[in-house]
Parts: sequence; C-alpha cells; structure tokens
Amino acid sequence: MKADVLVIGGGSAGLAAAVTAARTGARVAVVERHGACGGMGTASLVHTFCGLYFQDTEQPEFANPGIASEIAERMQSITGLPPVKMGRVWVLPQHPVEFAALADAMLREVGVEVLFHCELVALEPGWRARVACRGCLFEIEATAVVDASGDAVAAAALGAEHGLTESAKLQRPAYVWGIQGVTPPIAGLELAGRIVEGVRAGDLDKSALGMHFRASGRPGEVFATLDLSGAETGDYDPTDPRCLATLEATGRRLAQSVLRYFRDRAAGWETAYISHWPTRAGVRESRRWIGEAVLTGEDVMAGRRRDDEVALASWPLELRETNRGPKLRYPEGPAGIPRGALVAKGFQRLFVAGRCLSCDHEAQASIRVMGTGFATGEAAGRLAAG
Ligand SMILES: Cc1cc2nc3c(=O)[nH]c(=O)nc-3n(C[C@H](O)[C@H](O)[C@H](O)COP(=O)(O)OP(=O)(O)OC[C@H]3O[C@@H](n4cnc5c(N)ncnc54)[C@H](O)[C@@H]3O)c2cc1C
Repeated sequence: MKADVLVIGGGSAGLAAAVTAARTGARVAVVERHGACGGMGTASLVHTFCGLYFQDTEQPEFANPGIASEIAERMQSITGLPPVKMGRVWVLPQHPVEFAALADAMLREVGVEVLFHCELVALEPGWRARVACRGCLFEIEATAVVDASGDAVAAAALGAEHGLTESAKLQRPAYVWGIQGVTPPIAGLELAGRIVEGVRAGDLDKSALGMHFRASGRPGEVFATLDLSGAETGDYDPTDPRCLATLEATGRRLAQSVLRYFRDRAAGWETAYISHWPTRAGVRESRRWIGEAVLTGEDVMAGRRRDDEVALASWPLELRETNRGPKLRYPEGPAGIPRGALVAKGFQRLFVAGRCLSCDHEAQASIRVMGTGFATGEAAGRLAAG
C-alpha cells in the first residue's frame, strides 16, 4: 500500500493531522490499533475537551481557530452542550460515542484511508512501515509520517532517542467508566463525602478516594473517573504490559465495589449499573519524542510566544504526579508551540503531534489535552503534506 502521508494513531492529534493533510490533496492513510478514532476521547472515555479556549476570559474564545474549533463546534451541535467555565478555564463536554462517529464522518468526507485494528510494529526511514493486523503483517510506503500514537511508538520502532519521565514523577493513569440508571442528577461533592465515609468504615478500598463523578448530559448517565497510583504491583510503567493489565483489572474491581456501595446507600443509585468499560485505561504520559526544539514547562508558564509557533498551548500545567487530584499552575498567557517540537530530530519527513510531541514533563502537563492535540495534529498534518 502507498500513501503520501502515513499517520500513526487516530487519536485527537492523529484525526486532526489526517484530515488536514487530506484537505491539501495528499493521499493519507491512518493506522489505528482500535476500531474507532478519537484515542483517549473514545477508547478511554475521556469526556471533556480541554485546551480549546484561552484562560481568564468572560466568554469562551478559541485559542486555535482551525480544526480544533471546527471539531468543537461540530461536537457542540451534536450534544447541545455549551462550554463550561471551571475556575479560570473553559472546557467543552463531549461524548465518546459521538466523538467516534464524528471522527468517522470527518475522515470519510476527505477520503482518508482508515486502517482499523492495525498496529505499527516496525518502521524504516524512507518511509516503509510494517503494520500488523490480526496476525498478518503488511507494508505501507509513505513520503511522510506523523507519529500521533501518544506513546512515540515510531521512536521506539526506530530505536530513536526519546524522553520518558522517571516512574515516581510520571503523570498518574486513570480509569474512566460509564454508569446508567442514576436518578436524580448526581451531586459530585456528596458522593465524594460518601466515599470518604466508606473508606473510613473499611467498606471501600483506600484507592477509591481517587474517584469522582460527572453527569454526561444524557438522562441517567454518569461517567466515573478513578485516578490510580499505577504502582499497585511495583513501579508504574505505562509501557509494561503487566502494569497495564493491573491497571485495567484494578479499575474494574474498584468500579464494581463502589457501584455496589452506592446502590446500597445512595438515593437514586438503587438500580444503577455499569454500562461501559473503557477499551483501555487512560495513560496521561509515556514516551515523548525529542525534536528539533523542546517545549519546556518554563516556556508554558511564561506564556512565551515565538516567531516559528505553529499552535498555542492554552491549558494550565495540570500536574497529576499523585492520585490525589491535580495541581494546576496557571501560565501568564498562551505559549507558542514551536515548529521544531513537531519535527523529529535526525529524521527527514517525520513529524510528531499530540501528547508525545517534543517537550519536557512539565510542558506535557499542558499540551497533552485534546484541544491542544487537535491543534498540534493540524500543524503536523500541514507539515507532512507540504
Ligand atoms: C483519565 C484521563 C483524563 C483526561 N482528561 C482530559 C480532559 O478532561 N480533557 C482533555 O482534553 N484531555 C484529557 N486527558 C488527556 C487526553 O485525553 C490525552 O492526552 C489525549 O487524548 C492525547 O491525544 P493523542 O492523540 O496525543 O493520543 P491518544 O488519545 O492516546 O491517541 C493515540 C492513538 O494512537 C493509537 N496507537 C498507539 N500506538 C499505536 C500503534 N503502534 N499502531 C496503531 N495505533 C496506535 C492508539 O490506539 C490511540 O487511538 C485525560 C487523560 C486521561 C488519561
């Protein structure tokens, strides 16, 4: 198979990269491990787009007009849910079910070749990708590659230099699942209080303290999120399959125990049930590319603008180095993401977008959100097609 641009991973960044490149007339192929695009916004049930808007504004104002605002507007017209102000920032509620279908439609509209259930397993400069689909290998030749895998899998496949934060400081993983049959609408704070009581009484595991709930906007539906330490069986390593297996099983076990607890004790939860497991637990941080430029936490905090910026990082540093909730650090203003942070160092026509672009651990705490992922994906798609 041949393509002008091969996009690895169809998450928020890969979707934007593929659509942008195809809109310039390039032949684009996306390989995606799962059966839907959207990445963590579908497979891990992450249900809010952050990083779309400037902080500290009276009304929501898009930081990155272009595909980010287009996806936001299309999502809002589907769900009917407007942006919500949370402290100093605006976020847009999104629904993972709708996001998967919206991604299908956007890719179809511009004729992107979408290859689901396909995993990149090897890559040779030039570019020749080896892809596995259900036990068979095939090759894709491409003029340019965008690594939007979230895990910098192209760096791993090429044996290229990459960044990986030490285990103790990595942003913690989380498990998100769907619940149906909750009436009336939930009161998040009251539920958090109930969990504390349950843990104190010995009825709930201590790990349940990292749990919170949000109504999805659909009748009776709630998303629950459980921040995990990731170290249940040793050091947290998001690239270790045993560690990932533990995350998934721990998430399901705790979800079931909390549901049983609320069904017995919380009004409106008597007939609630778990309706959705995620396809995979949420990983906030893993490998990062080292590019021609490296965006730092200092750049983001100072709101540093650049002549060669290709997108704006407008989300605060959301540090989640423990499973006891986020530590938010608000920048002076939006920071420019330099072109070089999207260009893999030492390789021709290999670009990077999304949460594995070239940055340090602190900057990743800002740029990893989906709104910024759309914008860096758009920029990488344009570079790859150019
Ligand atoms: C629990 C949790 C809560 C979060 N909350 C928010 C929030 O409220 N708002 C927000 O905006 N962001 C949030 N984030 C962050 C955000 O969801 C992610 O950082 C963002 O989705 C990253 O997008 P991406 O496209 O870079 O990567 P991903 O979404 O991870 O997508 C990468 C895609 O690549 C595919 N892939 C990987 N390797 C291969 C391979 N070898 N071959 C083929 N395909 C491959 C994957 O299947 C995936 O679909 C949260 C994250 C977590 C974990």
